[in-house]
Amino acid sequence: MDIRGRRKSSNIEDRRGMRPVRTGVGLSIGGVLFLVVLSLLGINPLPFLGVATKAPEVQMQDTGQPYQESPQETVLREMTAVVLADTEETWNALLPQYGVQYREPTLVLFSGAVQSACGTAESAMGPFYCPLDEKVYIDMSFYDDLSQRFGAPGDFAQAYVIAHEVGHHVQNLVGTAEKVQAAQQSASKADANQLSVRMELQADCFAGVWAHHAARSRQLLESGDIEEGLRAASAIGDDRIQRETQGRVVPDAFTHGTSEQRSRWFRRGLESGKPESCDTFAAQQL
Ligand SMILES: [Zn+2]
Repeated sequence: MDIRGRRKSSNIEDRRGMRPVRTGVGLSIGGVLFLVVLSLLGINPLPFLGVATKAPEVQMQDTGQPYQESPQETVLREMTAVVLADTEETWNALLPQYGVQYREPTLVLFSGAVQSACGTAESAMGPFYCPLDEKVYIDMSFYDDLSQRFGAPGDFAQAYVIAHEVGHHVQNLVGTAEKVQAAQQSASKADANQLSVRMELQADCFAGVWAHHAARSRQLLESGDIEEGLRAASAIGDDRIQRETQGRVVPDAFTHGTSEQRSRWFRRGLESGKPESCDTFAAQQL
C-alpha cells in the first residue's frame, strides 16, 4: 500500500500509555484468563465478556507519561490511521445508498489490556469491535503475530484486519448485529455458532467491499496487496488458529469460518464492491 500523502483519520484514541491497576477487593485475573483461553481455543470470547468481568475489575489508569513509540510503531500507527480514514470514505459514501447514515467508529490503540464498554480485554484475544461504545480495539503487536505466527506479513494484511473490524461496525449500524444476537438467544448452541460464522464471514466480505473501493476510487492498493489480504483472511481462519494453538482442528468450535470460506467471502466483496453481495445469512452454502 502506498500511504504517502493520504489522509489520516482523527478518530484514533491512543491508550497505549495506560497500565492496569488493582481496584476493589481482588484482581479479576481469572476473568481475563478465561477470555484468553476461549480465544486460544478459537471461540469468540466477546459473548462471555460480561460473565468474565463481573468480578472486581482491573482498571486501566493513565500513567501520565506519553507512550514512547518505536519508529516501526510510528509507521504502523500511521498506516492504521490511513486505512481507517479510507474505510470512512468508503462507508460514508456507500451506506446512505441503503438509507443508513454512517457514524465513524473510533479506533483505540492499546497495549497489554484495555477496558471497553464490553468489558476488559487482553491483547492475546486479538483485535475486536465493541458495539456498545462503537469502538474498534487493536494492540498493534497483533500485526507481529499475523506476520510471524500466522505467516501473513505485509501492510495490506494489517489493513484487512482493520477493515474486518470496521465491517462489524457496519453490521452494528445496519442492525444485523442486534438481530443475530436476538436470534442466538433462542437458538441451539450449534445454530448460534452458525450465526456467528455468518457474521464473521460477512465482516470479511465487507472488508473486501472496502478493498474494492480503496483500489478503484483511490488507488490505495499496489500489486500484491490483494494476495496479502487473501493470505491474511485464510491465515486467521479458525481452522488455522486451532491448528496453531491446539495442533488439531475441532469443527464444532468454529466461530469465524474456515480459511477457505474467509478468503472466498473476502474475494466476493472485493469483486462486487457491493454490500448486498455479502448476504451470508441467505447463502445456502457458506
Ligand atoms: Zn470478526
